[in-house]
Amino acid sequence: MLQHKNIAIVGGGPGGLTLARLLQLKGAQVKVYERDHSQAARVQGAIVDLHFDSGLKVMEAAGLMDAFKASYMPGADKFRLLDPKGNVLMDDGNQAGKATFGDPHFRPEIDRGALRDLLIDGLLPDTVVWDSQLLSLNQTDNQWELQFKNGKSAIADLVIGADGYRSPVRKYVTDVNALYSGATIIQGEIDHPEIACPEFFALVNQANLMAMGAGATIAAQPRGDGGLTFYAAFLHPENWVKTSGIDFNQPEEVRTFLNEHYQQWDGIFHSLFAACTQFVPRPLNYFPLENRWVTKNNITLIGDAAHLMPPNGEGVNLAMQDALDLSECLSNGSFTNLHDAIAAYETMMFERAVPLCKESVEGISDFAAPDDESVKELIKMLS
Ligand SMILES: Cc1cc2nc3c(=O)[nH]c(=O)nc-3n(C[C@H](O)[C@H](O)[C@H](O)COP(=O)(O)OP(=O)(O)OC[C@H]3O[C@@H](n4cnc5c(N)ncnc54)[C@H](O)[C@@H]3O)c2cc1C
Repeated sequence: MLQHKNIAIVGGGPGGLTLARLLQLKGAQVKVYERDHSQAARVQGAIVDLHFDSGLKVMEAAGLMDAFKASYMPGADKFRLLDPKGNVLMDDGNQAGKATFGDPHFRPEIDRGALRDLLIDGLLPDTVVWDSQLLSLNQTDNQWELQFKNGKSAIADLVIGADGYRSPVRKYVTDVNALYSGATIIQGEIDHPEIACPEFFALVNQANLMAMGAGATIAAQPRGDGGLTFYAAFLHPENWVKTSGIDFNQPEEVRTFLNEHYQQWDGIFHSLFAACTQFVPRPLNYFPLENRWVTKNNITLIGDAAHLMPPNGEGVNLAMQDALDLSECLSNGSFTNLHDAIAAYETMMFERAVPLCKESVEGISDFAAPDDESVKELIKMLS
């Protein structure tokens, strides 16, 4: 079914790159059109953990497990939970390092940039076409013409939108738009935390730290390049980023807001705000998934483009699992046409994503504005 077909994957995130690798293993002709100007164009963000029955399983299927083992961050899967006063409520540092590959509970962490690099290294040369921001698609007979911002175009027999939460491909598949979950995150980046906030950095201890209580949350994670990413979560009305009056390009204004919001929190958290010079607000949106779209003949979506949901630690794993399911449906010989293969993939994708999305939307207050009860529940769940 894939012979002599040009496949265009829009977006070179974890979903799109994994799909390209899996399809190339089946001999398909694939290009990944990516908006970034080059592989090194931007820092990809903090660490992500891969799970036994999804991300790690897909790595294995893609023949990239050795590359993953060479690039992951041993020990970064540790988790430490604090209260707003900085007291440690839970610390699994002692258990970390005991679980290893093959153990269903082992969730090794990898820097997002390292993950992207290893996926790109697994592709044939020139598979990724950089500086290719998709603007629009035009359907001509059984093909799609892709128009890019750089003035170039391309023709494909099958288009897969792996272009994340603002996917321009999505509108050619469904007219269901994103809804606001009720929570917004302010993301902060610190390039040299060992100098800028050494006490907090020591507390993070190269692993996952969360501080929760008194109606607020802070999460912090190391980056593979030695930097630190943190997220401060809040419940806010829709469009708060615009209506707040805060100029997010002025770090001082953001710091003033954070210091007020976290007034009752220990000074160590305020040292984190003081150390940060770059803040990005991120309203947490999701795609309502109750009604599945009508399957199209030669276009579909994977990853966040298909099922954006509030962060729940599953996003990268889901995108990779979508890639595996779609590549299998397209190549395992069970279907005689693209439409039926895509329909079978979409059934699996929706069945997996619907309950996770529901859970993370319903739990948004427990995440962004936790009370003592929800923190106790979390500890019980993780113990
Ligand atoms: C604050 C936060 C924390 C998170 N933490 C975690 C975590 O710990 N673990 C986890 O598993 N998930 C986490 N997630 C979710 C995770 O980041 C996503 O689910 C995951 O990256 C989705 O992968 P993807 O390949 O579908 O899309 P993306 O990673 O968004 O990749 C999309 C790609 O498409 C490109 N693109 C976009 N538009 C165009 C265009 N027009 N033309 C061409 N290319 C385009 C982008 O440049 C990008 O490279 C988090 C999300 C947020 C917001």
